Amino acid sequence: MSSKNNRHFNTRVIHAAQTPGDWQGATLPPICQSASHLHPTAENLSATFGGKTTDHIYMRLTNPTNRVLEEKLTSLEGGKGAVAMSSGMAAVTNGCMALLRAGDEFVCGNSLFMSTYVLFCNIFKKYNITAKLVESTDLKAMEQAITEKTRFIYLETIGNPKMDVPDLAAAAKIAHQHGLPLLVDNTLATPYLCRPLEIGADVVIHSTTKYLSGHGDATGGIVIDGGNFDWSKSSRFPDFKPFIDRKGPLAYLDKVWREHHINFGTTQAPLHSYLTMVGLDTLALRMERHLTNASEVVSFLSKRPEVKWINYPGLPANPSFKTAARQFEQKGFGGLLAFGLTDQEACFKFINNLQMIYHLANLGDCKTLVIHPYSSQYLSFDEPTRQKLAITSDLIRLSVGIEAVEDICQDIGQALDRL
Ligand SMILES: *Cc1c(COP(=O)(O)O)cnc(C)c1O
Repeated sequence: MSSKNNRHFNTRVIHAAQTPGDWQGATLPPICQSASHLHPTAENLSATFGGKTTDHIYMRLTNPTNRVLEEKLTSLEGGKGAVAMSSGMAAVTNGCMALLRAGDEFVCGNSLFMSTYVLFCNIFKKYNITAKLVESTDLKAMEQAITEKTRFIYLETIGNPKMDVPDLAAAAKIAHQHGLPLLVDNTLATPYLCRPLEIGADVVIHSTTKYLSGHGDATGGIVIDGGNFDWSKSSRFPDFKPFIDRKGPLAYLDKVWREHHINFGTTQAPLHSYLTMVGLDTLALRMERHLTNASEVVSFLSKRPEVKWINYPGLPANPSFKTAARQFEQKGFGGLLAFGLTDQEACFKFINNLQMIYHLANLGDCKTLVIHPYSSQYLSFDEPTRQKLAITSDLIRLSVGIEAVEDICQDIGQALDRL
């Protein structure tokens, strides 16, 4: 087992956890489409409910196909355990709710994913839970926002579409000095580019809908526990006692699963886990191409007079350049970028002029995708909030795919020519 875990990342994306075992030699985990599972004896079912076996009971609790995905992503992120869920938002919700009680606070970056922003700032507020938003790269503000009511720090590896890259190792240090865990939404970087648990974070959350599945065919989310945070040592978590007694270092994951995932019913469909795993096989190859294509598209855009500004962490003048280069180990700077045209009218015209690039609300697909966030996902947001999230009316967001980069640039070029 240990030799398997020592294999390189590019091998583990394909082989980790994928032991054909008792699936009659199948090379892919079968889609186990069964709502519940037989138990040989009454003693066995009782033991399983008591957590003494890892047998399956009922699909809302666990599922054999989902478990392979959980083991695979645990390996890729260098964690100790994971729970797969129906969407990235299910993972964000459960991952945070497991840590929150009415009256609690947490500190988070202010460039949050749109639905995460709504959850943190609007929905949690109804339960007297306060999200303290700070500039994700401002470590001083992050530390100053911590009070005795704080329960965690939450960051995204790359802001969307703000493109800010927080220093995760430094943030983890601050969190730990105050007895707090650091939760990181690693969707935009993927474990190919960054493994937050290895540099100090305690929990990683993903929307598997994006780069991990990679083909725009399945939704999903996952919470991965690093298993290194000592919940008993921090005085902030008296409510963790029964979970510590039961699962020790995996107390948090047990709480996420037992208290929230099961009872909120955020079950992942095994078909979606299966599709995600088929997609995962090519993650490393796809990421290589996403990264090189994105940087070539950035050079192409930088030569066009119609493009007023470009926001991409790979540009040396970008405030996040140094942190991103170090944190992503010089492998690249992500597949997402934002750029500005004259105004909203020019953005609409640009999008309508495109011939190959898909216009839709998603990212991380193998196809190149474009959107004007101001008039779509953020349409109902008020102006000050849009400003806080860096959503301006002149902004185009591009998720660079893995097509031949000449064709991506050709399409962008002809759409700019006809503005
Ligand atoms: C898409 C996304 C989510 C939400 O994931 P869904 O699968 O759409 O629910 C959360 N965080 C980030 C950074 C995302 O890009």
